[in-house]
Amino acid sequence: MHQRQQIRGANVRASGLEHSLQATKRRTDNEFEELHTRLEKLTALTESMWLLLTEVSGLTDEHLAYKLYELDVKDGTRDEKKSVMSMPCASARCDAMVNPRARICQFCGTDAPARSPFDKI
Ligand SMILES: [Zn+2]
Repeated sequence: MHQRQQIRGANVRASGLEHSLQATKRRTDNEFEELHTRLEKLTALTESMWLLLTEVSGLTDEHLAYKLYELDVKDGTRDEKKSVMSMPCASARCDAMVNPRARICQFCGTDAPARSPFDKI
């Protein structure tokens, strides 16, 4: 009798976990879909801006490819990605490396070192 109650309780808990897992999966799927849509829009916007720039500047795809190469290898790894690296704290009294996503130094509270707006995304 006691074992049946334990089994029933375990089944109820398992069912609750299953519902929770399904809800988490739906939320994750929705977030992934939203990110995918935003990436497609950002890609279209970036390509449109580049096409406008080529029309008015004389820059070519070769110029863009070279600039992309320069940016890629700046972090020491040729992987067709731009890595955002930690930078030294801007404070004269602190030599900590500041996390690329941080607004302030995690050790002394000084504003994070100035970065490109692209590094803040
Ligand atoms: Zn600091």
